Amino acid sequence: MKRQLVLATRNAGKIREFRRILDEAGSETIELVGLENFPHLEDVEETGETFLENALLKAETVCLQTGLPAIADDSGLCVDFLNGDPGIFSARWSGVHGDDAANIAKVLDQLMDVDDVQRGAHFTCVTVLALPNGETVSAEGILNGRILRTPIGSHGFGYDPIFLPEGSANSLAELDAFMKDAISHRGQSLRAIAPKIASMLATLG
Ligand code: IMP
Repeated sequence: MKRQLVLATRNAGKIREFRRILDEAGSETIELVGLENFPHLEDVEETGETFLENALLKAETVCLQTGLPAIADDSGLCVDFLNGDPGIFSARWSGVHGDDAANIAKVLDQLMDVDDVQRGAHFTCVTVLALPNGETVSAEGILNGRILRTPIGSHGFGYDPIFLPEGSANSLAELDAFMKDAISHRGQSLRAIAPKIASMLATLG
């Protein structure tokens, strides 16, 4: 029997990656259910101060609202020169939630006069699975790299076009989906949590 698991996000880029990575990780006993099946639910306000707090907030709230196990991530870009910003504010860095082009423009503007050696950055992703019995489990993934001077590439989402992963000659937006998943912060955290999902869902009645 397949167990239902709600994907607690409306970000289309994340949804594609969640589905791909969990499919690849062999979670065939799980049926992923999108939030489009729960149109009455309002977006969860991200009031936490860390990626973990926000991921917990999203997964636990959606689990409570739907009565189903839920999985959520909180992720973002942390730039060394900006003391870790935009961090948990990555989605709304320009002031408008989810405006990728404006967010990229703001980061590039903030780093305009910054030379290559000072352009270090990393993506972080914390994934949380929340169960109706109150149990939670989390996993973190990190991808190191640096910020380019102009956007390159058209794959992926968010800050991918300005992020050059460590050891790569191509921006994250130039990599195809499977190459990104293999190294990405989301790929790492979902692959770490995937084996636990099936076993934890099996413990539910
Ligand atoms: P969240 O919904 O608060 O976790 O927002 C995460 C934000 O961080 C996204 O809207 C993007 O701006 C950025 N982000 C997270 N993961 C990625 C990624 O894999 N590529 C590019 N940008 C990302």
